[in-house]
Amino acid sequence: MDYSILRKRMVEEQLIPRGIQNKKLLDAFYKVERHRFVPEDLKETVYGDFPVPIGDGQTISQPYIVALMTKCLDLTGEEKVLEIGTGSGYQAAILAELAKEVCSIERFPGLAKRAEAILIELGYKNIKLKCADGTLGWEEEAPFDRIIITAAAPRLPLPMTEQLKEGGKIAVPLGEGFSQVLTLFQKKNNRLESTPVCGCVFVPLIGKYGYRE
Ligand code: SAH
Repeated sequence: MDYSILRKRMVEEQLIPRGIQNKKLLDAFYKVERHRFVPEDLKETVYGDFPVPIGDGQTISQPYIVALMTKCLDLTGEEKVLEIGTGSGYQAAILAELAKEVCSIERFPGLAKRAEAILIELGYKNIKLKCADGTLGWEEEAPFDRIIITAAAPRLPLPMTEQLKEGGKIAVPLGEGFSQVLTLFQKKNNRLESTPVCGCVFVPLIGKYGYRE
């Protein structure tokens, strides 16, 4: 199977027509081998226009949603980014292509290990991973220029507001079940302004400042 053809089709049919136009962003989607982040039997499915289950009841997000959230972060290449919800590691790899440094947290040890193995295999040196409750943030690595939460939260977890730099941005799905809204926060004059982006569906963020198990 020539996965680069599936990747090209993914970019041209799912991302560009929906308004993802930034060349660097599209290049990252052409480059990162999405099929390497999932088990053997899902390798072709994973280029489809939908999320795919990856074990432990979790999913790798739909390509367009990964692109949209990344677009919201407005990366220039200089940023230190915190990701909550490593999952497969795919979003972390996309971020690593577009930012200076990525710190990513996953709560399931099995997923964290698998993501670490593939990210090392692919040669990423600017990604740090840890297995913990991401709703607490990553104090030793803070502050961050950008934060991306790839699981749905009841509200913005408090530690995020403290670990974000002035002028920084946070992309996070807020809400439950099918009534979630992808929300973009920006820190201005030490206050967070929020802007709704679109409806979305993510698995829940489980933790101290998220939902209960
Ligand atoms: N970004 C991922 C998709 C994530 S799915 C990718 O590119 O594949 C959401 C992930 O968030 C799941 O793996 C889930 O286990 C994780 N998660 C949920 N609550 C969490 C928490 N409090 N801390 C860290 N990870 C969490």
